[in-house]
Amino acid sequence: MNRETSEKLYQEAEEHIVGGVNSPSRAFKGVGGGTPVFMEKGQGAYFWDVDGNKYIDYLGAYGPIITGHAHPHITDAITNAAQNGVLYGTPTKLENKFAKMLKDAIPSLEKVRFVNSGTEAVMTTIRVARAYTNRTKVIKFAGCYHGHSDPVLVAAGSGPSTLGTPDSAGVPSSIAKEVITVPFNDASALDEALDQYGDDIAAVLVEPIVGNFGIVEPKPGFLEKVKELTHQNGSLLIFDEVITAFRFHYGSAQELTGITADMTAMGKIIGGGLPIGAYGGLVDIMEQVAPLGPAYQAGTMSGNPASMAAGIACLEVLKEDGVYEKLNHLGEKLEHGMLKLAEKHGISVSINRLKGALTLYFTDEEITNYEQAENTDGEMFARFFKLMLDQGINLAPSKYEAWFLTIAHTDEDIDKTLEAVDQAFSNMK
Ligand code: PMP
Repeated sequence: MNRETSEKLYQEAEEHIVGGVNSPSRAFKGVGGGTPVFMEKGQGAYFWDVDGNKYIDYLGAYGPIITGHAHPHITDAITNAAQNGVLYGTPTKLENKFAKMLKDAIPSLEKVRFVNSGTEAVMTTIRVARAYTNRTKVIKFAGCYHGHSDPVLVAAGSGPSTLGTPDSAGVPSSIAKEVITVPFNDASALDEALDQYGDDIAAVLVEPIVGNFGIVEPKPGFLEKVKELTHQNGSLLIFDEVITAFRFHYGSAQELTGITADMTAMGKIIGGGLPIGAYGGLVDIMEQVAPLGPAYQAGTMSGNPASMAAGIACLEVLKEDGVYEKLNHLGEKLEHGMLKLAEKHGISVSINRLKGALTLYFTDEEITNYEQAENTDGEMFARFFKLMLDQGINLAPSKYEAWFLTIAHTDEDIDKTLEAVDQAFSNMK
């Protein structure tokens, strides 16, 4: 596959943009290097790159694109919004309408606030939890990603309940010390951390269904225990639903798992592809936020009409009958097909899937936490990724990411993808 123009554009990008990309995950570092593909057009389940090559897309822009690219209902909504002016700095009717839609779908959101990214949403939930509890420390789970604000760019220390160390230069160790990391799916490690630091813990922050070391579901009873321990300790439970909100059904992971959070952070799908974030929760907690309360959070672009219109339109599409059944059908077909092919070629894989989102790990182990995901074969994944890309299948360039199905994918797309998987596996033996 000729990707000459991408090569040239990447060289140019490296001259002007740091690392040639505006988000590090777009570089091919996670797959041993290479030139990222410059896409030019997205339509439905497909991409066309600047050299005219066509791809079936499973990246879904890291999650937001659940309806397929350029869905006409969303595109029309954005166009109409743009024609009326893209940014006002005043309240609009659209914000009320969208807030109400979110509240109707996710009952634990008694009050919401729109922001512009998942990072902002999570960052603010932490601030509000600190304001509400008058405590400073936060417990998070290893491998869960919560955006790039200081307190969540922290990795585990040497033991399961030690204070964090910064995961990024520029994060002061004084901030990292406010964060404790414990393994996902391990309620006893959480119990231990709460025993040790309980009086200081403002919040326990978790992706209720993980999307950031692949799709990893909570073990039965895990979230229940997390909630129980968190509340016993007088701390708040924050769910980071930036990936999960509207991904698996019309609503959040809370209605699916039966475990509600005190505060919820959202992003991605709820913007229909435009920049967005939102956070919300129980009213007495949310009333900590300015202008009602002492916790400050603001945003020039927050609740802008284009993002509101795109988000409303996206949810309108998702509310239609059969959407999640279709995503599940496509995901199931892909999962079963890949498992069969792995067996045929004698390649060890393990697939975690929930509805239309899945992760293919090169391992024979079941993946339930980050350490296990880390130990899967990254070199095999890198080879697979490149073999797939060269056959016109666009995946995320990292063994930790999910494949996201959209309602634009068809059975035929899955068949073509499985042919490519067959070919890739046969080259990898
Ligand atoms: N939380 C989760 C669970 C995420 O997956 C991400 C982004 N991948 C974020 C927060 C940060 O969102 P954003 O990139 O919009 O800042």
